[in-house]
Amino acid sequence: MSEDKNFTKLINPAVTTAVLNRFDFHFQKRYGQNFLIDSHVLDKIISAADITKEDFVLEIGPGIGTMTQFLSEAALKVMAVEIDKNLIPVLDHTLEAYENVQVVNEDILKMDLKEVSKNEADGKKIKVVANLPYYITTPIIMELLESKVPVSSITVMIQKEVADRMQAKPKTKDYGALSLAVQYYSKPKVVACVPPNCFIPRPGVSSEVITLEVYDEPVIKVKDEKLMFRIIRAAFNQRRKTLVNALSNSSELNVSKDHVKAALVKLSMDERVRGEALSPEEFALLSDAISEMNL
Ligand code: SAM
Repeated sequence: MSEDKNFTKLINPAVTTAVLNRFDFHFQKRYGQNFLIDSHVLDKIISAADITKEDFVLEIGPGIGTMTQFLSEAALKVMAVEIDKNLIPVLDHTLEAYENVQVVNEDILKMDLKEVSKNEADGKKIKVVANLPYYITTPIIMELLESKVPVSSITVMIQKEVADRMQAKPKTKDYGALSLAVQYYSKPKVVACVPPNCFIPRPGVSSEVITLEVYDEPVIKVKDEKLMFRIIRAAFNQRRKTLVNALSNSSELNVSKDHVKAALVKLSMDERVRGEALSPEEFALLSDAISEMNL
């Protein structure tokens, strides 16, 4: 790293504004561009992600490279994937002195992350860190968890409402398919609440930083993971209906009301129960009971 790296050290809001002006950068709403300007928040993100000089970090959406500079100093290698081509010359400038950073001009949703892990991370488990553009939060988190890309943790800034859904417990309004997927594959923990004034431009919502510590093997055992998630989707697509009605109505499942009733009886559950009352463990038991029917 060169000696003049402090010249472009970005977290100072005045330097951030100067860089944006120098490159005549215009924010694009469609890419969810809200850049961090608070060093305390960045410190919390880096410490929650627990990055060491052994780690390969994937940063989604580096923006002008503020967090990337911090990540570069903490990690062995950083791959920063940015969709906006107008930010690439900015990143070339702000990350010039940071030799362990590779900037890729791509849509993260179109990348083969298994290939990234194989070719760039030398087979190591990836740590994902991002101030996520809010419009891709659910698809990218689901892709990272479900496609079984080797990831050890995901530390992301997201909308507070989405963080609430990820951690929600049964019988609450926030509990749903996202809570179940996140809690099946990982252990979620909110590490910081971040108000709108920590960004430019200010977003219209509050944000939280959440760490998902991804399990090597899911703690909950289920015979047919895909079936369990089809059941979960069906249960929450019609969340005000009883499980018997919601599952038997679903085109994704081939079960009758009698099948669902028989499975619930086997598990000593009330026939009128709704999906929102079942814990992740109970969804796994229900899935096993339905899968044993060999429908
Ligand atoms: N990391 C920077 C920071 O904290 O200041 C910027 C965060 S900003 C909330 C989100 C960034 O993700 C923007 O730079 C945006 O252009 C980029 N982005 C949006 N959609 C993306 C996608 N599909 N793939 C990769 N980057 C994307």
